Amino acid sequence: MARYTGAACRLCRRENLKLFLKGDRCYTDKCGFERRSYAPGQHGQRRRGKISDYGVQLREKQKVKRIYGVLEKQFRRYYFKADRQKGITGTNLLVLLERRLDNIVYRMGFASSRDQARQLVRHSHFTVNERKVNIPSYSVRIGDVIEVRERSRAIASVLEAMETVVRREIPPWLEVDAGKFHGIVKAFPNREELTMPINEQLIVELYSK
Ligand code: SF4
Repeated sequence: MARYTGAACRLCRRENLKLFLKGDRCYTDKCGFERRSYAPGQHGQRRRGKISDYGVQLREKQKVKRIYGVLEKQFRRYYFKADRQKGITGTNLLVLLERRLDNIVYRMGFASSRDQARQLVRHSHFTVNERKVNIPSYSVRIGDVIEVRERSRAIASVLEAMETVVRREIPPWLEVDAGKFHGIVKAFPNREELTMPINEQLIVELYSK
């Protein structure tokens, strides 16, 4: 599956926002954005000029794609699926992204970044309802039980992530039993529970053109 393999910190600097793509490093003074909070590239230190409405919408879409580690084609598919669902398209879109298995593994604290979660899922370290699932985009349902497989419970990166998850809280719509290495999806998040600074309406406007 295609994914972005370039420098993660560059993406934060481009979006002028900490996207928390590199796990623990994001909370230290080694954070690339903290050290160089201007845009990447040769002209990055120039003042950020005024951008058009289209530019604002485009940046918002890029930002969300980068937070969840999704490329354009797949993101577009999420958008059209969200648009077909009942309710508010922008909120539907964010909920669909939150339901990805790699995101859930990250949110539950079994990985320190979505990228790491994606790799762990790919390597078959998790089960969903006791069945092995190795598809990062797998869409979880309410009531699903996500578990670290027994043979994977000594992996250093999993244990480290579980120790440091206190830095970012486990959201209230998930319930985790760290002792048993599993968690349950109690509900889907509502808009207020998604706290990243995202204006999803701008994405809807972009795709509605
Ligand atoms: Fe972004 Fe994390 Fe890199 Fe900081 S360390 S720039 S938050 S990816």
